[in-house]
Amino acid sequence: MSAIQTLTVLGSTGSIGVSTLDVVARHADQFRVYALTGATQLEKLAEQCRQHAPRYAVVLDDQAAEDLRGLLKQAGCQTEVLCGEAALEQVATAPEVTMVMAAIVGAAGMRPTLAAARAAKRVLLANKETLVLAGKLFMDAVNASGAELLPIDSEHNAIFQVLPRAHREHPYRGTLAQAGVKRILLTASGGPFRTRALETLVDVTPEEAVKHPNWSMGRKISVDSATMMNKGLEVIEAHWLFNAAPDEITVVVHPQSIIHSMVEYADGSVLAQLGTPDMRTPIAYGLSYPQRVESGVKSLDLFSVGRLDFEAPDLVRTPCLRLAFEALRAGGAATAVLNAANEIAVAAFLDRQLGYTRIPVLIEEVLATCVGDCKADSLEALQQADALARLTAQRWLAAQS
Ligand code: NAD
Ligand code: MG
Repeated sequence: MSAIQTLTVLGSTGSIGVSTLDVVARHADQFRVYALTGATQLEKLAEQCRQHAPRYAVVLDDQAAEDLRGLLKQAGCQTEVLCGEAALEQVATAPEVTMVMAAIVGAAGMRPTLAAARAAKRVLLANKETLVLAGKLFMDAVNASGAELLPIDSEHNAIFQVLPRAHREHPYRGTLAQAGVKRILLTASGGPFRTRALETLVDVTPEEAVKHPNWSMGRKISVDSATMMNKGLEVIEAHWLFNAAPDEITVVVHPQSIIHSMVEYADGSVLAQLGTPDMRTPIAYGLSYPQRVESGVKSLDLFSVGRLDFEAPDLVRTPCLRLAFEALRAGGAATAVLNAANEIAVAAFLDRQLGYTRIPVLIEEVLATCVGDCKADSLEALQQADALARLTAQRWLAAQS
C-alpha cells in the first residue's frame, strides 16, 4: 500500500481501539485518523483526539457531546464532535475514509459496520457480533460492494493468513474443499475455569470471570471467553468469513494461546499461525495487508513457552459452545437470538443479577421460546429477532428475582 490510508476507528476507547491507535501511532507516515468514536470514557476519547487530531469524534448523545466539546476546547483541539447512530454511519462511510476498524462491542456495532461494508471500505472486523447477528446480509453486502474484509479476531486473522489467497479474498467463489482445505482448526484457550472443579462454577464472580489467563480484553468478551460462548460466536464468525460448513470447523483447546488457529489441507498438511498473544499483530496485519509492518509486539520466545498442549473441548463444562453450534445448524434468526440472549445474560451476570452457571440456562430458554417466531430475511427482521430475544431474556430475569 503506498497512499496514506485514512481511518475511522469505531470504538476507539475500548481494548481493540486502543491497540489500533498504538499501531497507527508507530506509522504516522502511512495512516491518518479521520474519526474516533466512544460511548463512555470521554476523557480518554479527548486524549485520543489530542494525540491523533481526527476531523470528527462521535459519542452517543447530546450530553456526552457537550461534555466532550468542553474537554476538547480546554485541550485546544479542533476535532468536531458529532453524536448518535447516524453520525457513526456518517464517519464509517465518508468518501475520504479508506479503512474502518469495527471495534464497538456487541450488536450496537452492527449498523455502522454494515454501512462501511456497503460503502466498499476496507473493513477491519473485530466486532464478531455483526456476523453472528447478520452474517448473510453482511457477507452479501461485502460481495456486492467489493469491500475488503480483514478479520481482526486473532483466530480468524490466523486462518486468513494460512488459507490460499484466492479463497481468503473471495471465499464465496468456491467451497473450502475446492480450495484444497479439509477443515479449520479453531483454537481456544479454554478460559480461566478450564480446570476449576465443576461444582464450584456456581460461585464464579464477575471479578474472576473477567481475568483472562492470556489476553487482556473488554469485560463482555472476557466473560464470553470464560463461558466459551466466545468460541461459539467465533465458530459462527468462521462459518461466514470463510464459507465453512459447521462440520468443517473443529474447536481445539490450546491453553497457551500461542497457535492462533490452523488450517488442514487435503494432503494432510496443517498450517498454523503462531505468535505472542497480543491483538496488535492481527491489527497491524489488517492495516497493512498484504504488506507487513512493525506492531510493537514482543517476539515469540518458544524457549520460555516450552510446550504446546491440546485437548478436546468439554461441552458439559461449556454448554454455551454447544448452544452456538446448535444455533448455527438451526440457521435463520437463531444466531441473532443467541447473540442477543447472551448479551443480556452477560450484562446481568456482570451486574450480579444472574449466577455464572445460569448464563447458558437463560440463553437456552430464550432460544427455545423465540426462534420459532423470528425471521431472518431482512435487516429489519433480524433487528426484530434481536429485540424479541432481549425482551424475552429480560422477562425471564424479572421472573427469577
Ligand atoms: P471494549 O468493551 O473494551 O470496547 C468497546 C468499545 O465500544 C468502546 O469504545 C465503547 O465505548 C464502545 N461502545 C460500547 N457500547 C457502545 C454502543 N452502544 N454504541 C457505540 N459504541 C459503544 O471491547 P473490546 O474488547 O475492545 O472488543 C470490541 C469488539 O472486538 C468486540 O466485538 C469483541 O468481541 C471483539 N474482539 C475483541 C478482542 C480483544 O482482545 N479485546 C479480540 C477479538 C475480538
Ligand atoms: Mg478470538
